[in-house]
Amino acid sequence: MSSTPDLEPQETELLQKLKVFRPSDRAAWSSVSEEDWNNWRWQLKNRVGSLEQLKQHIPNLSHEETEGARLAETKLVMAITPHFFNLIDSEDPACPIRRQMLPRIEETDTASWEMDDPCGEDDHSPVPGLVHRYPDRVLFLVTDRCAAYCRYCTRSRLVSNALGYDFRPNFQEQIDYIRSTPAVRDVLLSGGDALLLSDDKLRHLLTELRNIPHVEFIRIGSRIPVFLPQRITPELCNMLKEFHPLFISVHANHPRELTTEVRDGLSRLADAGIPLGNQSVLLKGVNDDTTVMKALLQKLLMCRVRPLYIYQCDLINGSAHLRTSVRRGLEIMEQLRGHTTGYAVPQYVIDAPGGGGKVPIAPNYVLSHNADRVVIRNFEGKVFEYPEAADGTPLHCPPDSIEEPQLV
Ligand SMILES: *Cc1c(COP(=O)(O)O)cnc(C)c1O
Ligand code: SF4
Repeated sequence: MSSTPDLEPQETELLQKLKVFRPSDRAAWSSVSEEDWNNWRWQLKNRVGSLEQLKQHIPNLSHEETEGARLAETKLVMAITPHFFNLIDSEDPACPIRRQMLPRIEETDTASWEMDDPCGEDDHSPVPGLVHRYPDRVLFLVTDRCAAYCRYCTRSRLVSNALGYDFRPNFQEQIDYIRSTPAVRDVLLSGGDALLLSDDKLRHLLTELRNIPHVEFIRIGSRIPVFLPQRITPELCNMLKEFHPLFISVHANHPRELTTEVRDGLSRLADAGIPLGNQSVLLKGVNDDTTVMKALLQKLLMCRVRPLYIYQCDLINGSAHLRTSVRRGLEIMEQLRGHTTGYAVPQYVIDAPGGGGKVPIAPNYVLSHNADRVVIRNFEGKVFEYPEAADGTPLHCPPDSIEEPQLV
């Protein structure tokens, strides 16, 4: 008997709606020339960064947002590229893009378990700007600047320099450490955002890294393809492809972030042979909903991006209003595995507070496990048994009971 799994018509309709690719419209910037708009330096120069500018674009700014914008300079700078700003629905106070980008006064509420360095990066730093937590790979902080700033950023202590951390990486010192540490075979460039460097500066850095024989794998963690797709020029792609194997991990949290411009930029990177992954942060009111998350993950596949991680939001100071429960995260994961393409299902992780690194979290599919069997359940809740055996031979199935396959 065959049965077709039930599709909820309502969910399917909403899912399809969320998955549409739209160009980001120019809105308040409609008089800007095509040339300026498509110029990434113009986009950076014209970021929305002050309360006055915010008020011009969003007439119904709430009290919490107004006060938040006043305090941003002393916490984490507000800066939003016109491209990304235009994804905000100014009529909707709960807009998921708005929640990620606009400072709120709640950022000044801090709990005793919140920290300014929640992943303990500074404690695992052999030289400034390098985090060596795992045996064979390092995180290489390139800059303290991003194209726009996410209110939940785990590196708020240093990005944008609002807290006066004064991060000034000395690339030579970082490179020397990697060169003299043969265990490091994987370098992850992040920050801040490495793609803010000029092509020449980035080429220079990648050349230095590629000249180290034990560096096998290089990846760049960047939110620029989403914040500033104009930066993904053919010249940049041509330069990057000289350094293979080079991977890029992008960061998208909501399906609306994947516009036609973003898809085209990702496509240029993929055409340059760069494997693309995505890291999302689970955020309250942004993507803590199964349909929204599924739409994001499926839309990423359409952009040739393989979802890699969903992070539980780190315990950064003043982020309680953006954090959602681990229980919710597990419920979402439960609704993904088996229910959609395996490639679309990322690993849900908690970056262990204080510096334990990424710990995978998953719904429990193993109901019991003893010396002779493991009892499992599938995505539909059906229960199955698998015979356990230390040496790989099923205990309850002696070899002479196995029938030869019939060849036809
Ligand atoms: C996430 C991270 C890495 C990369 O880890 P993967 O498991 O390879 O994704 C490396 N170093 C640090 C400090 C990190 O936070
Ligand atoms: S792009 Fe990344 S590093 Fe920059 S503010 Fe956002 S989360 Fe932080």
